[in-house]
Amino acid sequence: MVSMFQTPLTAAEIKEKALSLGADIVGIADGAVMNANPPNPDDPQIPSDVTDHDADRVIVIGQRVSLGAARILDWSDRHKYVNDELTITALEEIALDLVRWLEKSGYPALVVPTTHVDPWRYDGNPETHIRPPISHEHAAVEAGLGTLGLNLQLLTPEYGPRVQLTAVLSSVPVEPDSRMEESLCLGPECGRCLSACPGDAIKQWDRDWAACNEHRQPHSFKEMSRYLESVIDEPDPEVQKKMLRNEDSFYLWTSILRGAGVVTGCRRCQDVCPVGADYEDLLKDALDHISEDTAVKQTRLASIQADEAAGNRGDAYPAQARWIGKFTD
Ligand code: SF4
Ligand code: SF4
Repeated sequence: MVSMFQTPLTAAEIKEKALSLGADIVGIADGAVMNANPPNPDDPQIPSDVTDHDADRVIVIGQRVSLGAARILDWSDRHKYVNDELTITALEEIALDLVRWLEKSGYPALVVPTTHVDPWRYDGNPETHIRPPISHEHAAVEAGLGTLGLNLQLLTPEYGPRVQLTAVLSSVPVEPDSRMEESLCLGPECGRCLSACPGDAIKQWDRDWAACNEHRQPHSFKEMSRYLESVIDEPDPEVQKKMLRNEDSFYLWTSILRGAGVVTGCRRCQDVCPVGADYEDLLKDALDHISEDTAVKQTRLASIQADEAAGNRGDAYPAQARWIGKFTD
């Protein structure tokens, strides 16, 4: 890159620009640190896999989700899916405007949205959990925006887990942020995310992604494949014809149209989490009671609490400890 075409920028100027474009939170991670600390060593999800040239910095941008949608208790209510999809759309525009602004200053940049998966990751099995090219949650921790919780969701001091994220890669030479040292998660003693999870997908500092995906992406490619197969396999032509025009096919069509239910879906674990300055005043009155809780979940939570008290944080914890943060106990 010819530096004479570049206008010097600071981290503060980049953050101010992102906030002025509509971001609610923004932080800057060091691409080299992310490359050295892949969140999943078997599937590294690191910036250098995206681009060789323009990933020295990972600018992580977040926008809070609509609280009115969070206060709707049914995880599968489509108003929730649609509102989250609108937030993702707004974030896409903010990120693209930031890319153009950086490039006007002489720094090539690109957006890596959470909704993007590389086709080469698809192995022909619709059950496979396909991760995006980088883990935005881990990038957000590296960018100083928060820490990971019991189910590895990002928790932020401002909005808890109630944020959507995107990332802009650029080799603009600015000071990166530092990780938060202390965990924001209240741990299994809280366990509200586990109690609320309709897929029973939350483990001890881990998540059963296959079980979660059934809910967080209810009209995903997998579901569309499954539905089309059932149409093809239907022997009665009249029933088959009706299957083209029923509620299932309608939801699939609207989901393909806007992405609601494909890139958005269940977020009960985000809604009920008490972390975040927004929870007490704006959410607690509607979300304090968790109707999905069961005796079986409470027994499992008690077992996890007993393990933690004995110093055993579970098999998944060591690999994620960097991003979960330290506990004060
Ligand atoms: S998104 Fe829904 S299904 Fe997935 S972990 Fe959260 S509460 Fe459970
Ligand atoms: S609900 Fe509780 S246990 Fe779950 S992530 Fe939030 S603070 Fe942690």
